[in-house]
Amino acid sequence: SKTKASPVTRDASEPKGKPASGPLAKKRQELLPIRQALPIWAHASDIRQALRGPHKDVLLLVGETGSGKSTQVPQFLLSEPWCTGQIAITQPRRVAAISLARRVADEMGSTLGSSSPGSKVGYSVRFDQSVSPSTRIKFLTEGMLLQEMLRDPWLKQYSVVVVDEVHERSVNVDLVLGFLRNIVTGDKKGRGGKPLKVVVMSATADIEGLQRFFEDGYRLSSQHSSSNGTTAATNGTEDSESSWSGISSSSEDEAPKSITPRKELSNGVEPKNGSPAASISQCHIEGRQYPVKTMYLPEPTQDFVEAALKSIFQIHYKEPVPGDILVFLTGQDTVEGLEKLVKEYVLGMGPEVPKIITLPLFAALPQHLQQRVFAPAPPKTRKVILSTNIAETSVTVPGVRFVVDCGKAKIKQFRNRLGLDSLLVKPISQSAAIQRQGRAGREAPGQCYRLYTEKDYNTLGKNTTPEILRCDLSAALLVMKARGIDDVLNFPFLSRPPHEALEKALLQLLQLGALTEAGEISDIGRTIAKLPLTPTLGRCLVEAAKPERGCLTEMIDIIAALSVENVFLNLVTEEKREEAEAARRTLYRREGDHMTFLATVQGYAEEKSDRKAWTERHYVSHRAMQNVMDIRKQLRGLCGQLSLPIADIEKSSEELTTSILHSLLRGFAANTARLMPDGSYRTLSGNQTIAIHPSSVLFGKKVEAIVFSESVFTSRSYARGVSAVRLDWVAGVLAGTDG
Ligand code: ADP
Repeated sequence: SKTKASPVTRDASEPKGKPASGPLAKKRQELLPIRQALPIWAHASDIRQALRGPHKDVLLLVGETGSGKSTQVPQFLLSEPWCTGQIAITQPRRVAAISLARRVADEMGSTLGSSSPGSKVGYSVRFDQSVSPSTRIKFLTEGMLLQEMLRDPWLKQYSVVVVDEVHERSVNVDLVLGFLRNIVTGDKKGRGGKPLKVVVMSATADIEGLQRFFEDGYRLSSQHSSSNGTTAATNGTEDSESSWSGISSSSEDEAPKSITPRKELSNGVEPKNGSPAASISQCHIEGRQYPVKTMYLPEPTQDFVEAALKSIFQIHYKEPVPGDILVFLTGQDTVEGLEKLVKEYVLGMGPEVPKIITLPLFAALPQHLQQRVFAPAPPKTRKVILSTNIAETSVTVPGVRFVVDCGKAKIKQFRNRLGLDSLLVKPISQSAAIQRQGRAGREAPGQCYRLYTEKDYNTLGKNTTPEILRCDLSAALLVMKARGIDDVLNFPFLSRPPHEALEKALLQLLQLGALTEAGEISDIGRTIAKLPLTPTLGRCLVEAAKPERGCLTEMIDIIAALSVENVFLNLVTEEKREEAEAARRTLYRREGDHMTFLATVQGYAEEKSDRKAWTERHYVSHRAMQNVMDIRKQLRGLCGQLSLPIADIEKSSEELTTSILHSLLRGFAANTARLMPDGSYRTLSGNQTIAIHPSSVLFGKKVEAIVFSESVFTSRSYARGVSAVRLDWVAGVLAGTDG
């Protein structure tokens, strides 16, 4: 049932009792009129109504980016009588989770997270957690909610889970939706009979698929309970046809199971709670979009960074201030490259021209720097925000009148021939291009400069392919297995991944020793599932913790360095490159990038007086190293909790290096290549040619075999994060004789 707008007078987040005073309350008062002006405000009572009462458990909410979904919906629900537990809101990105938490705390006149007692809002993202016992609203990444589900399959601490940004269709959001469907449509035994409400929010209107997805869940559950007389959430998989013969396991917890139909859906089997559709409401927030004039390039460009630079200054000289520019680029590298160029050009601007400030925006950027994009530009100044696709729907930047869209994004894609996920720069879809364009028309009519031709636009795919259809599924399957889903084939997928992809992922988990031959999760698999790392990196860590390896602290440092985008600064010019090579020589290790990362992290950590100066001396990114230190601390803590032991046996440096390389190989056995007589490298598993990336310390070197932690594809396949290893070690791991 669609809901209509109705006037709202009550502010749901109004604290009861004495009126508060002080700076927090003042801020709250200041923000209230801004909130009331959001398009969603008029729908507050509809949204509450849609979830009020028994069996009204699912709300599908559609609204343009910036209409107020993420910040307002949790506040609307907070005072509902059924809302006695916490409210979870999932985000695909850590940046958004943290900045939204901060914003909502401000709007509620509360402090944030663990910083003070009584704070109502918190967040939880990979390597960073800020919650207190009084937290009511918790923003968390999809990955963190999945982690919580491993500990508490029924999500008992929550009254409602709000799934935000579903249109992005990350693998994790698809998993979250599957698990949630099992909970809401099953019996509520594990939740002590209490319902779990679910709000699914999207910036794009195609939610009929979601409607059917939940309807199917209710229908199957009612059919299941009426066909065998048992309750819906009991294990319905024991006699389901599984083509994974041998790949099923007994579960040890009472996790809600996916429900498999026993026979064809028969009409006339009504759920106990009335028709499935009755439990699901839809709400559409009308957009507030001004017209955006769109310009294309007459000819395709080879260099979108340069084209972006031109557009920025064309706009700057022609258009009045205020009016900020938002530029969509592919990743941290292009953002930082363009930032440098803009800053150089700004130096040549006359005093009569308004000023420009550049603000980078990408996931790995530290919080306080991200927060700067929300501040209005100073007088007579234009903000130029250089962003990855983070600003497409996740983060709404105020003040933007001009959008410059490079038409590309960095996406993860499984490459069958290589047998692994690579980061690829790919053309975006039309719907992504429209989202980007829309950012220019939030507050007034705007302009969008597309750095591609109109003809190229017409050849773009209509929608972005869901990640689950194009990525490595090993992490997803491990989560399912750890969560007690035996029959992964019958998991309720919003989009069912291809059979081969599932099979491949199961095989990989088997190779990692995360699953047993029978397809049951192993102890190692359980440990890996609890780590906020990919199964491969998790396996490296577990291996390093073995007594015979004894290199856990070192592996933590390496993984921390691999988890940030660029430890070493990008170098634009040739002479700079030579200078940097000389400065970094003390850090370079002949064994390759991983040992070099280790030397870098250790060197930085040992520097006690001036770390910033140290990074400048070594041409290392200070920003990245601060993140590395954060991650290192978190990982050390986690390893302690999981009882992964830190070695106390002294080793020679050569023994230590050997242990580290062996541990890396255990996780990355599939990412190995050998030297061919013609000097090229070929992967051992797929027999594909792969070159060592120019950024590697092993670039141009010939060693008998390599192991690499990442592959990128530009004009050809490149291995990044490369270490030299012995061929007999690789053979040993691949033969499975190496533990
Ligand atoms: P939606 O979820 O529909 O995209 P949001 O609730 O995220 O909308 O945003 C509503 C408004 O709140 C936006 O106009 C945005 O500018 C503002 N906002 C969101 N986060 C922040 C923040 N961290 N700082 C300042 N303003 C913010």
